[in-house]
Amino acid sequence: GGAVADLTVSRPPSQEEKSELSEAVRRKLSMQEVRRSLPVYPYRQYLLAAIAEHQILIIEGETGSGKTTQIPQYLYEEGYTEKGMKIGCTQPRRVAAMSVAARVSQEMGVKLGNEVGYSIRFEDCTSERTLLKYMTDGMLLREFLTEPDLSSYSVIIIDEAHERTLHTDILFGLIKDIARFRPALKVLIASATLDTERFSTFFDDAPIFRIPGRRFPVDIFYTKAPEADYLEACVVSVLQIHVTQAPGDILVFLTGQEEIEACCEMLQERCRRLGSKIPELLVLPIYANLPSDMQAKIFEPTPPGARKVVVATNIAETSLTIDGIIYVIDPGFCKQKSYNARTGMESLIVTPCSRASANQRAGRAGRVAAGKCFRLYTAWAYKNEMEETTVPEIQRTNLGNVVLLLKSLGINDLIHFDFMDPPPHETLVLALEQLYALGALNHLGELTKLGRKMAELPVDPMLSKMILASEQYKCSEQILSIAAMLSVNNSIFYRPKDKVVHADNARMNFFLPGGDHLVLLNVYTQSAFSMQWCYENFIQFRSMRRARDVREQLEGLMERIEVDLTSSEGDYVPIRKAITAGFFYHTARLTRTGYKTPRWLIYHELVFTTKEFMRQVHQPAIDSTWLLEVAPHYYKAKELEDASAKKLPRKVGKTREELG
Ligand code: ADP
Ligand code: MG
Repeated sequence: GGAVADLTVSRPPSQEEKSELSEAVRRKLSMQEVRRSLPVYPYRQYLLAAIAEHQILIIEGETGSGKTTQIPQYLYEEGYTEKGMKIGCTQPRRVAAMSVAARVSQEMGVKLGNEVGYSIRFEDCTSERTLLKYMTDGMLLREFLTEPDLSSYSVIIIDEAHERTLHTDILFGLIKDIARFRPALKVLIASATLDTERFSTFFDDAPIFRIPGRRFPVDIFYTKAPEADYLEACVVSVLQIHVTQAPGDILVFLTGQEEIEACCEMLQERCRRLGSKIPELLVLPIYANLPSDMQAKIFEPTPPGARKVVVATNIAETSLTIDGIIYVIDPGFCKQKSYNARTGMESLIVTPCSRASANQRAGRAGRVAAGKCFRLYTAWAYKNEMEETTVPEIQRTNLGNVVLLLKSLGINDLIHFDFMDPPPHETLVLALEQLYALGALNHLGELTKLGRKMAELPVDPMLSKMILASEQYKCSEQILSIAAMLSVNNSIFYRPKDKVVHADNARMNFFLPGGDHLVLLNVYTQSAFSMQWCYENFIQFRSMRRARDVREQLEGLMERIEVDLTSSEGDYVPIRKAITAGFFYHTARLTRTGYKTPRWLIYHELVFTTKEFMRQVHQPAIDSTWLLEVAPHYYKAKELEDASAKKLPRKVGKTREELG
């Protein structure tokens, strides 16, 4: 395909800048030199002056200009953390929060967790001394529960605002509100060069501070015909670049861990076969669940003579900046959540990314020198098959969690909440209905005592209901283990390609007639966190360790919400009842020919990728009287009987309109 350069170059770099930057690539600059070489640096004083003058400021700058790592340090140097006040900076992704905090602690020469720390779900790496706190947007949202006016913060930076995650969108509304009665609070909305006018409009026309970008031209290449197998196409492209193109590292965008692992394996395998015929190629993956020591590897400078290829999820689109990238390979896909408000089903689907995403991806090739982006789709597809921008998450996700949180913050009128883009009415109503079914809201839509406790647990409402129900059924020890295992679930069982049969056999050994939740409990109990045991049973040791950490955290929270730790020992019935109490709302009826009676089963999460499948099927049939026992306000005996003869259980109680 011919080269189509459709990226605008905001300003051609001067000769001086060019040599300065290519220098920077070759020579290993000291950390302070790097800091001074960043695009934001010359604007330090102007930026601080603008922040002093305005309460809310929108900051726009190319990825890599230094927004995330530098601005909090400037504020710290300027005295914004005096009197023990903190500077908080949110990130939509856990990996970014951890990685950026680590970098900033290095730049400041302090131990991570002291003056600079991070907080992500189930992992708090901060201390009394922490002044610069990086955290996921979800964690800041939870902080409203304990500190509704965020009074310990002098500055809040909502970073990566353009990502428009659900939590970031909710933060917009809450922060805008508290800024009104906390005039001393500074609010910075930081974003890549996207959508900044909209942020300004939302925040009562707050001024926009633009950090001029330093961007080199990027040549864009398209394929002539669509690629049938984009994974294979990626591998081939990487190797082609490696053998034919000038030095410079490669960044490949894939949709998730499995794909990334497969791609890395294929690359390593082919390099092994080519042996010394080609120069060294360092293959490095990066995705959310990658252990942090492995994550750090992508930032290490490439040794001379070698080339680095980073295979990433869209975390590398704007959240992380990897220096030295000259080539980008973009298959044009991402994994996206979508939500069907009619069925209440949430799914993760691989879909074409937006044109805005594609352009961000291409931009990664032009940070340090002129670069090239290879799009593994046609120019026609770019123009006709991709959406202009990504739909904000709030419009394609289940809102149960967020509604519960807002209700516990005393925000009752959700319809009139200050949303930048409101969620679909249907979705909001469904969330209210689900919370009513779980007993978190009463028939007037008000938070119940149970609901208040549920909100304290940083997990989905169904999971928190299950945990709270374990008190009544006297099995909280077991339920906590199950909850912890569910939180790390997608990475527990290890299934290497060359040992599929062994792995599957090992898995069968954990089978219990009570269902998959019990299997998880079984694994948790048996493992005893022995590395040897995990290895022999094809269980990921790392995930088990993580499950243990999560469980410890949950145990700590139980004390706070005053739920006693109890054990049902070998009796599975109470455990299954507690599970039912949490997940009954997701009851599906299994009708098979040959069965006269209705079979109920419960699923934890319905995920579809290529085809629909049920995860965590709580098998086999649960007695329909259990449904009555766990949610009498929701099901009536008669309805259940009627439903046996018809389709799904019918809901009773308040109608949607009454709840909304
Ligand atoms: P922005 O937030 O504007 O995208 P960052 O502040 O994240 O920019 O990054 C600025 C620069 O800091 C990067 O270009 C890179 O040189 C350096 N940097 C950031 N994170 C790391 C890291 N984890 N390791 C090494 N260098 C980093
Ligand atoms: Mg950033």
